[in-house]
Amino acid sequence: MMDYYQILGVQRNASVDDIKKAYYKLAHKYHPDKGGDEKKFKEVNEAYQILSNKEKRSQYDNFGRVFEGGEPGTDFQWAWGKPDMGFDFGFEDLGEMVEEMFGFGAPRRKKDLKRGRDIEIEMEIPLEDVLKGREKEINIYKHTTCSRCGGIGAEPGTKVRECFSCRGTGYVQQIKKTFFGSFTKWAVCPECRGEGYRSEKPCNVCKGEGRIKGEEKIRIFIPAGVDTNQVIKAEGKGDAGRRGGKSGDLYLRIFVKPHAIFGRKGDDLYASIPISFALAALGDEIEVPVLDGSKILLKVPAGTDSGKILRVSGKGISHFQGFGRGNLYIELIVKTPKKLTRSQKELLEKLKAEGI
Ligand SMILES: [Zn+2]
Ligand SMILES: [Zn+2]
Repeated sequence: MMDYYQILGVQRNASVDDIKKAYYKLAHKYHPDKGGDEKKFKEVNEAYQILSNKEKRSQYDNFGRVFEGGEPGTDFQWAWGKPDMGFDFGFEDLGEMVEEMFGFGAPRRKKDLKRGRDIEIEMEIPLEDVLKGREKEINIYKHTTCSRCGGIGAEPGTKVRECFSCRGTGYVQQIKKTFFGSFTKWAVCPECRGEGYRSEKPCNVCKGEGRIKGEEKIRIFIPAGVDTNQVIKAEGKGDAGRRGGKSGDLYLRIFVKPHAIFGRKGDDLYASIPISFALAALGDEIEVPVLDGSKILLKVPAGTDSGKILRVSGKGISHFQGFGRGNLYIELIVKTPKKLTRSQKELLEKLKAEGI
């Protein structure tokens, strides 16, 4: 079992400051970008994550590393991160910390606070629809831009002024003091909560949010050849952003319904067709269904055994984002007659006498 205190090389009663100091030192030493030991780096990160958080630390002191051997999906997993995946925050956060520590790269990439959420939905389509690319219309319940204020969030006719604290940028600089000295950090403007502006009177409909919950009809193009679990992205069709922020994206996960006749494997289709015992022996042309609803003539050679597979080129599924189609494979199943009329029986008796 991992001992977080030992990993950071601190006493069990170490102060938060001691833990931080030990962490910075070790994280620096083991940082993989600087040729350090990645495994050690992850351990150090994990130890720091737990010991620097009061609640997690006391949980750890009392119960140990709870998620070890735990059932997936327990509460602890959410709180503590997934087992064996380490703590994802690793490199990026450390990079941020290092930059902060040494004071370079001040205005870091700022999070877009107003951007709407991405939405993922599932869509069931029949196999026939995979043959040709087609546009589908779907209704989605989501945040949509408020039509009264056009997404601004201000009641029409009232004034919107730039936030004085952040000069409309949504971010302010803060001086943070640490044992390494002071450094500047960009923080979300507390005055306007990152909006960059303030309205005299919020919109009556959306209460200043710039968006409301509602249903929206969306047209989305489903390309030919899609398969189950493929995800189609519709940019900007997710939740509308707050107060004129960028919209999220919509992800459509495809589920292709199984077909009554045709099985699918990649771009090829498979079907089993029953033929009579006499037809198999003598050979003939038969009509075979095709996915697009039409029929084709297929030549069954004389002396066909049950289970023989015939290939029909280019009658499968359209290749995804390409030209042409896969093949159709027809398996011929020879049916042995069950109910016979008297005359049929007589004929068969004759054949039997002939050794057939
Ligand atoms: Zn509004
Ligand atoms: Zn502001």
